[in-house]
Amino acid sequence: MSERVIPLLDLRNRAAIVPAQAIVPNGLLGDQRGRPLRDLRISVTDRCNFRCNYCMPKEVFNNDYKYLPHSSLLSFEEITRVASLFVAHGVQKLRLTGGEPLLRKNLEILIEQLAALRTPEGQPLDLTLTTNGSLLRRKAAGLKAAGLQRVTVSLDGLDDAIFRAMNDVDFPVADVLDGIEAAKEVGLGQDTKGRFSGLKVNMVVKKSTNLGEIIPMARHFRGSGITLRFIEYMDVGETNGWQMDEVLPSAELIKLLQAEFPLVQLEPSAPGETAQRWGYANAQGEFDPSLGEVGVISSVTQAFCGDCNRARLSTEGQLYLCLFAAEGHDLRGLLRNGASDQDIASAIGLIWQERDDRYSELRGLNLQPPPTPGKKRVEMSYIGG
Ligand code: SAM
Ligand code: SF4
Ligand code: SF4
Repeated sequence: MSERVIPLLDLRNRAAIVPAQAIVPNGLLGDQRGRPLRDLRISVTDRCNFRCNYCMPKEVFNNDYKYLPHSSLLSFEEITRVASLFVAHGVQKLRLTGGEPLLRKNLEILIEQLAALRTPEGQPLDLTLTTNGSLLRRKAAGLKAAGLQRVTVSLDGLDDAIFRAMNDVDFPVADVLDGIEAAKEVGLGQDTKGRFSGLKVNMVVKKSTNLGEIIPMARHFRGSGITLRFIEYMDVGETNGWQMDEVLPSAELIKLLQAEFPLVQLEPSAPGETAQRWGYANAQGEFDPSLGEVGVISSVTQAFCGDCNRARLSTEGQLYLCLFAAEGHDLRGLLRNGASDQDIASAIGLIWQERDDRYSELRGLNLQPPPTPGKKRVEMSYIGG
């Protein structure tokens, strides 16, 4: 196939290639493993007001750290244009992330633009955002008014001293809980039955730090309508000094919970769902919806690459096909060099068709791919979770 290469603006990444033969979006795109493209995570900033040691350790993300200049960031118009092409290719879910997405100025304007997008069948998208919750009290009403449907708040414990140590900027737990309350008050994540099925809390478990917070967190959110999800601490990026003995396998976590609260396993809510779902049971051992559910995201011990349908767009418009990738594909180069929508859609199509990533699966088989020479694995704060 002959190809046109649009000149690169950023030499750290791979040029996005426009195939000579157009790849017309029809929602049927599949990668090398037959995985569809359904979920796009968009990082809107590489900055954050927290320094969670598993994500942006202070020693690295200090005053000398070079964040991206504003001119490198995709504008809201650029993000919306690219997102609409992903939607044409079959993406149904958009998640805004970062860094801390609520630090991006006027984010509500981007949300309004994304909320107006429709699938080829005319359906609105599932539009959500992951935040550390620190600015939610201030922002919740504006986000909801702009069209945000759901929100996931990260919270690693209820003990104030432990939480302050984990965010490493001395941020109090009460303010995050208040942010969650604000989200509830404006109806973010509320479903038609009045339940907060779209309001989720993510807790990363690091054995040496917040193991003791699992049961208090479960007790706090049980029956609140909010789903708590436990995430295995991942070896993402190259700066967090990850060690396997800090990971609490989800299977052990479920045993810990079961000893306190009876649980029954629930069906996945959607194909490609990252979390395994467990419902709180009643005295008869049956799922009791009024008590709600918990989720476990076992990225380390039970890889879910087999149906990974997620792409990630970095703050500066690089497309990553895996959380553990060392290299992105430069879509910003196309956007800023006058490529047509058809060209960009074809480039996205080709990138996805060639995708073969399955890092966690290979790690589980002790077949971890060798590092890419001269490249570092991307940081979580750069492409979001
Ligand atoms: N700042 C926002 C927040 O914390 O929610 C959004 C970006 S953050 C990178 C997205 C998610 O990634 C958070 O839930 C965070 O806890 C999770 N995360 C970051 N580093 C991680 C790691 N090493 N292992 C597992 N989860 C991680
Ligand atoms: Fe910031 Fe989120 Fe990373 Fe914590 S996990 S440092 S809040 S981006
Ligand atoms: Fe997807 Fe990569 Fe995670 Fe596997 S390791 S589930 S391919 S992001």
